[in-house]
Amino acid sequence: MSYVPDPQRPQWPQEAERMVQEQIVARGVRHPRVLAAMRAIPRHWFVRPEDQAWAYRDGPLPIGYGQTISQPYIIARMLELLDPKPHEKVLEVGTGSGYQAALLGLLADEVHTVERIPELAAQAAERLARLGLDNVHVHVADGTLGWPQAAPYDGILVAAAAPQVPQALLAQLADGGRLVIPVGHRHGQVIERWTRQGDTFLRETFDPVAFVPLIGQEGWDESSWSS
Ligand code: SAM
Repeated sequence: MSYVPDPQRPQWPQEAERMVQEQIVARGVRHPRVLAAMRAIPRHWFVRPEDQAWAYRDGPLPIGYGQTISQPYIIARMLELLDPKPHEKVLEVGTGSGYQAALLGLLADEVHTVERIPELAAQAAERLARLGLDNVHVHVADGTLGWPQAAPYDGILVAAAAPQVPQALLAQLADGGRLVIPVGHRHGQVIERWTRQGDTFLRETFDPVAFVPLIGQEGWDESSWSS
C-alpha cells in the first residue's frame, strides 16, 4: 500500500499518521494490516469538501442524508475484530461515505457493500473508483437481508445500530466466518462479534458505541427509532 498523492492536501499522509498513532494505536488497536490500510486511504476524500480540514479528527462527521462517517477509532476497532484476511470475501452493511469499504478493499480479496440511500451509494462508488478499488462492489438494497447473491462471506461488518442480530446475516456467514455488529437501542449499543462454527454461533461483546440506526426489514423502522 502506498500513499495517494493529493496536491490539494499534500500534508494528508502526516495527518493520517497522527490519527493512527494518537487515536488508534494509543487506544490499543495493534492489527498491523488495519493500521497500514488507515495510513493508505485518504479519509478527506470521503467527507464533504467543507469538512476536509476535520477529516482526520477524533470523531464522526456528517455526510448528508442524516448519516455519518464513523470515528476513525471505531472503524479501526471493528476492522480489528473482523480480522479480514487477504484471500477472504467480506460484506459491509452501511456503505455511507465508502471509507470503511475502501479499507476493506485493501484488507480482503472481494468486498460487497450495501447502502439503502442511493445517493450515498453513488458517491461512494465514485470515490472507490477514483482509488482504483475495483474489488469493492457497491449495491443499493436493504442490507439487513445481507447480499445473498455473493454469499457466503468470511466476514460481515455492520456499520449501523441493530435492535438484534439479523438472522439473514448469520445465515450468510461461511463456516468460521465472523459478523461484527453494534447491537442495542438508540441511546447506545455494544459491538458484538458472532463467529460461526458449523451450525453454532459464538457471541462475544466488546466496546460501547453510538451508531445511526440500521433501518430495514430486520432492523428498525424509522418511526420506532425516533419515538
Ligand atoms: N461505514 C460508513 C463509512 O465508512 O462512512 C459509515 C456508515 S454510517 C455510520 C451508516 C450507514 O448505514 C448509513 O449510510 C445508512 O444509510 C446505512 N444504512 C442504514 N440502514 C441500512 C440498511 N438496512 N441497509 C443498508 N444500509 C443501511
